[in-house]
Amino acid sequence: MGDENAEHTEKAARAEKPESGASGDSGAGAEPERRRGSTRRALLLGGAAVGVGAAVLAREELGRLWWRVPGVVKKRKEGEVDARGAQWIAASSANWRRADRPSDYDIDRIVIHVVQGGYATALKVFKDPGHGAAAHYVVRKDGHIAQMIRELDVAFHAGNRSMNERSVGIEHEGFVDEKSSFTDAMYVASARLTAGICERYDIPVDREHIIGHVEVEGTDHTDPGPHWDWGRYLRLVRRERDRPARAGTPA
Ligand SMILES: [Zn+2]
Repeated sequence: MGDENAEHTEKAARAEKPESGASGDSGAGAEPERRRGSTRRALLLGGAAVGVGAAVLAREELGRLWWRVPGVVKKRKEGEVDARGAQWIAASSANWRRADRPSDYDIDRIVIHVVQGGYATALKVFKDPGHGAAAHYVVRKDGHIAQMIRELDVAFHAGNRSMNERSVGIEHEGFVDEKSSFTDAMYVASARLTAGICERYDIPVDREHIIGHVEVEGTDHTDPGPHWDWGRYLRLVRRERDRPARAGTPA
């Protein structure tokens, strides 16, 4: 991601739902402001003193920190994605709520779904304002990933408001009762996506934090179902997380 500053570029305020409450600047306390100021100063000084390498490092570091600064409205660019390599395909705005995560809501869960249909079907229904639900990501059998909702925003994917607010939802094309739905390419691509999300928000890689839709309180959904190989998936997520190349790589 290329955002290098915290400039406030207020785009025409998209209909802010009253119940969303915590969005915008409400979370900006004095403490985080002070921390941000000193961090930025320290990094800039470091960069100037040590040279280009350090400056690049500082910029990357600043990029990561900036992401977490509470109360700063993040700059949004049309078509921008949070996961490197994902293709932006916008969901209908009726299927998510604008937010400013992780400033207004902490993100500490990833919810794994299965579409009960193909990739194209998922895209179609998530673009449909009448559907009332959509996930942040859809993973195709060949490993291609569509991002349909920004991680900043609350996607309506878990059927549970507080879970939606704290989670990122990932759909996988296929069917819960069809083991062949879940290809090697899909597992690897999804695991890489999940590893990136865990890295961005400091989410532990375990089954408490990476859950199936079936485990969401009050749900009647069964996905991802008995054929989803959790042991394999978590191993792959850890492998992706621990890749040396990932260190310091945004998104
Ligand atoms: Zn689901």
